[in-house]
Amino acid sequence: MSRTVAFIGLGHMGGPMAVNLAKAGHRVLGHDLVPAAVETAAGSGVEPAASAAGAVAAADVVVSMLPAGRHVLSLYDGILTAARPGTLFVDCSTIDVADARTAHERAVAAGVRALDAPVSGGVVGAEAATLTFMAGGGEAEFAEAGPLLEVMGKRAVHCGGPGAGQAAKICNNMILGVSMIAVSEAFVLGESLGLSHQALYDVASTASGQCWSLSVNCPVPGPVPTSPANRAYRPGFAASLMAKDLGLAANAAREGGVHAELGMRAAELYARYAEHVGDSEDFSGIVRTVRDRSGA
Ligand code: NAD
Repeated sequence: MSRTVAFIGLGHMGGPMAVNLAKAGHRVLGHDLVPAAVETAAGSGVEPAASAAGAVAAADVVVSMLPAGRHVLSLYDGILTAARPGTLFVDCSTIDVADARTAHERAVAAGVRALDAPVSGGVVGAEAATLTFMAGGGEAEFAEAGPLLEVMGKRAVHCGGPGAGQAAKICNNMILGVSMIAVSEAFVLGESLGLSHQALYDVASTASGQCWSLSVNCPVPGPVPTSPANRAYRPGFAASLMAKDLGLAANAAREGGVHAELGMRAAELYARYAEHVGDSEDFSGIVRTVRDRSGA
């Protein structure tokens, strides 16, 4: 069934996601504060919308893909009253669990429906429509969003009620950030002990040290030819985004009184590393800071 979708936020992720919806035959009304982002999407079948409220008023479903929670809440404050009753709002941005729950509450109070559906898979996944969606909200809302999520990604998991999608996203990325630091420290320790990268990889990738940070995104060049380490750490998953996600996880851990010692430490290390490299380096480049601080 073809739907009318208002798509707000046509940046690195939102642009290609909106284009994939349009390519699948949906009417997509796209809006972004940056005119160039709208123009790029318009070149691939997205109809430019002069205002977010105008797009929302005509839509069955509203998808947003914005930088942070404050952008989502301020957008919702400006557009919820413009929507027809029952319109489904799907926020795909990565934001605080608390902000996601607030967004749900405000949507419901305004007579519309909401789902949080952050993604993993990066810009490559957004372009190739291979994203994984992690959704939080009602069964009916998840089922209704399903055909649209299928067009933009390859997998959608219903994680629970409001905010559960965001919770799954930051918990997963806490595992990822901590495991990348662990793998990096192991390689630098191996170097100091005269162990070759290949030997450590050959053992750990088939033993109990196996994990995605080692076997797919290996932080040293050589053992996994497709990992960002082989292209001077060009992302990939940018260090700045890892720092952002670990910051969200650290906030949630603090608020919940969770003793996430390694997650907190990983958030600090990535915040410091991202200050230097921003979005120019893949998060696996943190191996170089481990090496530098070891004086190696
Ligand atoms: P981006 O900065 O490229 O895009 C965000 C867009 O939102 C920008 O074009 C900006 O102009 C627009 N925008 C901001 N406020 C707006 C408003 N009120 N109305 C209309 N447009 C507005 O960021 P991105 O890389 O596309 O990331 C978007 C979200 O996806 C973030 O929450 C990020 O954490 C998450 N994410 C990104 C990646 C990635 O690899 N880039 C991967 C997974 C998740």
